[in-house]
Amino acid sequence: MRQCEASILATHGQCLTTRLYAESMWLPRIDTPRCTGCGWCVAACPPHVLSLQVDDGRKHAELHDVPGCTGCRKCERQCPFSVISMVKVDDGHERF
Ligand code: SF4
Ligand code: SF4
Repeated sequence: MRQCEASILATHGQCLTTRLYAESMWLPRIDTPRCTGCGWCVAACPPHVLSLQVDDGRKHAELHDVPGCTGCRKCERQCPFSVISMVKVDDGHERF
């Protein structure tokens, strides 16, 4: 398991495990090094599950509430720099 997956599971526990592994879902994948931290995606997200985080003094968008994401793609459409791509997560694996 990758470190990011372990971190998400540690935070969200059984609810996320159940949803991720029981059904297919679409989630935004954010290419963090290319993210400018402009916040357009954060403002566009209806359930407010995206936020700006700061690492080493640099802002970037992050999906902080994975189970709350509806897969609506508004963040992907709003990003002016095409930093977000939607990926299908099926049985715990990304599908392209
Ligand atoms: S897909 Fe929709 S709900 Fe999920 S993070 Fe993007 S805007 Fe928010
Ligand atoms: S809209 Fe794109 S560049 Fe701006 S914060 Fe979101 S992912 Fe980063």
